[in-house]
Amino acid sequence: MNISPDTKVYGIIGYPLTHSLSPIMHNMAFKEKRINGVYLYFPCKYVEGVVAGMKSLSIRGLSVTIPHKEKICHYVDELDSLAKEIGAANTLINKEGFVIGYNTDAYGAISALKKKVNTIKGKNVLIIGAGGAARAIAFALKKEGAKLTISNRTIEKGLKLADNVDSKFCPLSHISENGYDIIVQTTSVGMYPDTDKSPVSKNIFKKGMIVMDIIYNPVETNFLKTAKKCGCITISGIEMFIYQGAKQFELWTGKDAPIDLMKKTVLNIIGR
Ligand code: NAP
Repeated sequence: MNISPDTKVYGIIGYPLTHSLSPIMHNMAFKEKRINGVYLYFPCKYVEGVVAGMKSLSIRGLSVTIPHKEKICHYVDELDSLAKEIGAANTLINKEGFVIGYNTDAYGAISALKKKVNTIKGKNVLIIGAGGAARAIAFALKKEGAKLTISNRTIEKGLKLADNVDSKFCPLSHISENGYDIIVQTTSVGMYPDTDKSPVSKNIFKKGMIVMDIIYNPVETNFLKTAKKCGCITISGIEMFIYQGAKQFELWTGKDAPIDLMKKTVLNIIGR
């Protein structure tokens, strides 16, 4: 790509930013769609000056990752209604000096689930974890009409999320198979390099259940491998990652995202 004065600048903020796959995924998408854009790493410890910096440097869009998704909401000019409800934004758009925050994690998770589930309405869904990603997914699933149970290691955090989305709560140490149709694993347990770990035992799985892990490295976690052995239908975190990125691409460029290419690019890097 030739850098010119017209090249549109995008990027990702977070700290640390060592393992993000977003730059390679978005740069490949720009190339494929012939967009004069570049997506860069912006390791950033303090979030206070980010929105002002975006405006003064004409940065068109940013992905926001750990630990800034919540704090950034205090600095944008406007928050999309879902991001406001969740209390976290993972995407910023600079529309001629007016910066809007969105949450595409929620969209990513629902799109990934809908590849394997016809309707989410009325389904019993267990969400393992109560961190930032769990929060986005819980609000999105509630909107889809799911009956939710939240389970978390730290009880106060789990109870708070369960209260916010008007759902049941079960401590992580007490969960067992309980008529769930869908399980969504959102903790970081089992993520590279601790790939032999799982947050739960195989007793929670039942044949035919839909089981999604939002961890995308490795592509198939220990949790998903066990679910598959128990006869569950599994969904990798790669699916959510691609869909949340595709939605960002569409918000920034107004064009359809090259989803297959984005997925192929990410899978090549992770080594599958
Ligand atoms: P977070 O806000 O830090 O939340 C972490 C969650 O993991 C909390 O519920 C925490 O429980 C739980 N946890 C951590 N260590 C644990 C342990 N040893 N045992 C039991 N529970 C443990 O992080 P996040 O932003 O939600 O991200 C969570 C994971 O999702 C990460 O692996 C991230 O890469 C992945 N993610 C994937 C996508 C995607 O597109 N596929 C998008 C966003 C995030 P406590 O409350 O007890 O600490």
